[in-house]
Amino acid sequence: MDNASFSSSEGKPIRCKAAILRKAGEALVIEEINVDPPQAYEVRIKILCTSLCHTDVTFWKLDSGPLARFPRILGHEAVGVVESIGEHVDGFKQGDVVLPVFQPQCEECKDCKSSKSNWCARYTDDFLSNTRRYGMSSRFKDSSGEVIHHFFFVSSFSQYTVVDIAHLVKISPEIPVDKAALLSCCVSTGIGAVWKVADVEEGSTVAIFGLGAVGLAVAEGARLRGAAKIIGVDLNPDKFEIGKKFGITDFINSALCGEKKISQVINEMTEGGVDYSFECIGLASIMEEAFNSTRTGSGKTVILGMEKYAMPISLGSYDLLRGRSISGTLFGGLKPKLDIPILVDRYLKKELNLDGLITHELSFDEINKAFDLLTEGSSIRCVLWMDK
Ligand code: NAD
Ligand code: ZN
Repeated sequence: MDNASFSSSEGKPIRCKAAILRKAGEALVIEEINVDPPQAYEVRIKILCTSLCHTDVTFWKLDSGPLARFPRILGHEAVGVVESIGEHVDGFKQGDVVLPVFQPQCEECKDCKSSKSNWCARYTDDFLSNTRRYGMSSRFKDSSGEVIHHFFFVSSFSQYTVVDIAHLVKISPEIPVDKAALLSCCVSTGIGAVWKVADVEEGSTVAIFGLGAVGLAVAEGARLRGAAKIIGVDLNPDKFEIGKKFGITDFINSALCGEKKISQVINEMTEGGVDYSFECIGLASIMEEAFNSTRTGSGKTVILGMEKYAMPISLGSYDLLRGRSISGTLFGGLKPKLDIPILVDRYLKKELNLDGLITHELSFDEINKAFDLLTEGSSIRCVLWMDK
C-alpha cells in the first residue's frame, strides 16, 4: 500500500467519495464528503472493496422508527487498509490489511472475557451510535458541512471511514481482498452459527431457510461438519444449483409447496424433523416454520435473519416443553478478533470454499445497480471496487 501518500493525509480531514442515503428507499447519491481524522481508540481506513449484504437493504428501506436515520452512509461488509491511527491504538499500523466488523470485541468487558457468547457489553443496543466510545458524534460531513450518520459502526460505502478498534480485525494480506470482505459479515455469520451456536455434529440433518450468502455459508459450515442431509429452502430456483457447491443435498421450492406448510414437507422428508434448522431470510413466519421443522425432543433452531420491524414470533409452548430449542445470533456467535483469523487460515489452507458467492463485481459508482441485483434475486454477493 502507498504509505507515503497516507502519511501526507495523517491528522487532516480527507476528502473522498461516499454513497449517501438521504431518504429511505431512494437511490444512493455519490457525493464528495469530508472524513475527520480518527480520535482516541479509532482508526481511519481506506476501503478497498465492499459488498452488499441484505442487512444494508433492510436499513436502506427502513423509513420509520429510531433506527431510521438520514443522511447516512450504509455498508458493513468490507476490507480496508489502515491510513492513520488515533491515540491509544495498539496493534494496528499504517498499511495493515483490516476487516471492519459490525460486531465489537472490546476485549475488556465481562462479556468479552466470557466464552459463553460473542456479546460485548459496550455494544449499545440502539445501532444508532456513530462511533462507539464517544456517543453520537460523527466523523463524516457533506460538502455543505451537514453531519452524515454512520451505520453499524462501519459505513463502508465510503472510500474512507473511521472505525473504533473494537470493530477492527487485522488479517493476513495473503487472502484475496474480495474473499476477505465476505468474512466481515455473511460467511462468518453463517459458519459461526453452525460451528459455535448450533454445534452441528457429523451425520446430522439440517434445514436452511434462504439461500443467500448467509444461508450458503451455513451450508458450507454444515458440509464441513459432515452433516448427512442438508435441505435448502428458497423460492428462487436459481439458488438451488449454486447450493449444491456448498453441500446442499435436497431442495424445497417454497413457492411450489401449495397447501402444505414447508415444515410439513420437511417433517415428511426426514421422518419427524431435522436436527437443526437455520432461518436466513428475516421473516417472522419463516422463523416459526424453521422451528416447526425440527425434531421433537432435541431439535435446535438458530435465527440469523433480521426482521425489518423486529416482529414477535409465536412458538408452541408444548414444543418447547418437549425439548426443542431456539436461539438467535449476531455474527454467528464468533468473537471477531479471535475467530476471523481462524477462518482466514482455513480459507488459505483450501478447506473453506468461498467460490461462487461473488456473482457480480462493479465499480463503486454503480452501487445502485448492486441494490437492484440483490433485491431482484440475481446476485449472491456483488463486490464494489472503491477505486474503479
Ligand atoms: P439474501 O437476500 O442474499 O438472501 C435471502 C434469500 O432468501 C434469497 O435467496 C431469497 O430468494 C430467499 N427468500 C426470500 N424470501 C423468501 C421466502 N419467503 N421463502 C423462501 N426463501 C425466501 O440475504 P443475505 O445477505 O444472505 O442475508 C440473509 C438474512 O440474514 C437477512 O435477514 C440479513 O439481514 C441477515 N443477516 C444477519 C446477520 C446476523 O449477524 N445475524 C448477518 C448478516 C445478515
Ligand atoms: Zn451483513
